[in-house]
Amino acid sequence: MAEPEMDILGEDTRKVLREAFESFKDDVLLEVFVAEGKNDEFNAITVQLMKAIAELSPKIKVSVNDLKGDKAQKHGVTRSPSVLIAPDKFNIRFTGAPVGEEGISFIQTLIRVSLGESTLTPASKAKLAKLGEKRHIQVFVSPTCPFCPGEVINAFKAAIERPDLVSAEAVEATENLDLARQIGLGGVPHTIVNGVTVSKGLQPEERFIDDLISVKPFVERTEEVRARPEKEDVQETDVLVIGGGPAGLTAAIYLERSGLKTVVLEKSVLGGQVTVTPVVENWPGQKSIPGARLMELLGSQARDYAEIRENEPVLELKVGRRMEARTPRRRYLSRALVLTMGAGHRKLNVAGEDRFAGRGVAYCATCDGFLYKDRQVIVAGGGSSALTDALYLHSLGAFVTIVHRKDSLRAEKRLQDMFARTGRPVVLNSVVEEIMGKEKVESVRIKDLPTGNTRILPVEGVFVAIGEDPASELARDIGVKLDEQKFIIVDRNMRTNIPRVYAAGDITGGVRQIVTATGSGAVAAVSAFEDLGDPYWKKDAARADREKASDQG
Ligand code: NAP
Repeated sequence: MAEPEMDILGEDTRKVLREAFESFKDDVLLEVFVAEGKNDEFNAITVQLMKAIAELSPKIKVSVNDLKGDKAQKHGVTRSPSVLIAPDKFNIRFTGAPVGEEGISFIQTLIRVSLGESTLTPASKAKLAKLGEKRHIQVFVSPTCPFCPGEVINAFKAAIERPDLVSAEAVEATENLDLARQIGLGGVPHTIVNGVTVSKGLQPEERFIDDLISVKPFVERTEEVRARPEKEDVQETDVLVIGGGPAGLTAAIYLERSGLKTVVLEKSVLGGQVTVTPVVENWPGQKSIPGARLMELLGSQARDYAEIRENEPVLELKVGRRMEARTPRRRYLSRALVLTMGAGHRKLNVAGEDRFAGRGVAYCATCDGFLYKDRQVIVAGGGSSALTDALYLHSLGAFVTIVHRKDSLRAEKRLQDMFARTGRPVVLNSVVEEIMGKEKVESVRIKDLPTGNTRILPVEGVFVAIGEDPASELARDIGVKLDEQKFIIVDRNMRTNIPRVYAAGDITGGVRQIVTATGSGAVAAVSAFEDLGDPYWKKDAARADREKASDQG
């Protein structure tokens, strides 16, 4: 099989990996299985990647096998490419090439396997120790999904912890579309245990372990996450930043640089909305960069300064002399809060939207777009997000129609021009009235607003990109003032109405650009630093006292 000649890792990555692999204890065997004619492009990349990785440490051994051979049969491998990690000790495999975002889970797993340490929390280990039956985990992923490695890592950690009972598999859905369609995959990550879908989306580790043990079928979760943990740790810090997007990470860098100990609490993975932006072309100094890459750089810079806790959603906030944030893991106490929770996707609120969520209705083109190659899809919305998504879906081979309620698009002109060049239709003055289908989306009913006429458009995907609503519920709960659209009201120093509570980024509304989010994060941090040393509310009170005294005098 011909392998493309290219430097698959690059010198910088090789250097970082070589250093990381120096900690290796045991040898790690990588068994690669390929069959010519099945995913040839990915076979070649996988073989080349495994060989390149093996060159970085004498402890990594690679063996490339034919899918038709005895070894494949012995390990029950039927898909090309497949990579088994240390099959002599563990039941861990990638069904598909461990590339793109999954490069992270692959490398981390090599290290854990070599050290023989799952790195699960003591609580998770204790729960898994009681497991008495076999579990087979399948996590469906895509190479562009930034949330997927977290879920795969959860699965592989469990397989390292209980090799006697737990087997785990990351299934690259793009290379195994038949499997993806068999299970009606509508989004990734999607986790199946012993054939039962137990979760959709990235789960915090404790919840993942609970699901693994209970094998309860997936249901949408809301209030349930508010349950208190059995025992709470308490951690103190100077400042708590809630939300790990561009605003929060920048605030954390500035806070730590000014000497304030900072913890960032992020409910899923760092980067916020930017992580799922295919390409960013307006970050000054960088002509074009994938959103995920930009956030990786910012995240790694922030980690050099602050303590960053991912997969740790804040369930409750309290204000007082000490600010308090409660997560499923612990309580945090701080002197100040910086709220940077950003905004979440807005819904169309039409019939069928909730019913088909994850079964044709999607809000993240970067994550789920791969499922719609050669399929008809609509993108609802007329802003820059809608156009960015439409262009991305078109590049994946989907047949895209944009549906927008106004008579003209509001997206950046450059994006509009790019979409016009695709030759794909834009349906203006129209709204989606209903999303229809049996098991998954089959069509939408579109209403032409000027005439009131409706028509049915056969589509398999509905990508909703109609803007965002601020994630400001926690702020509202502690009495932070919001505007009529629920954005946090701040002054020019990013102070809210509550002393020592600041806000920055998309949660404060405005133009909602990455560059303004980072800028406002820096301003919030500087204000927090100034106020903690020399509180403005005390100065204001002293001034008021002086004025009162002089009035009376
Ligand atoms: P946006 O600019 O607020 O656009 C939202 C779009 O959805 C608008 O066209 C709006 O219609 C439509 N809409 C809102 N509610 C709707 C509903 N209920 N039903 C149907 N349509 C509805 O949001 P965005 O596109 O997410 O962008 C947010 C910010 O990020 C903007 O500042 C944007 O410039 C920026 N951004 C920039 C880029 C880039 O590449 N430069 C990429 C993505 C985002 P109306 O026009 O009628 O209001």
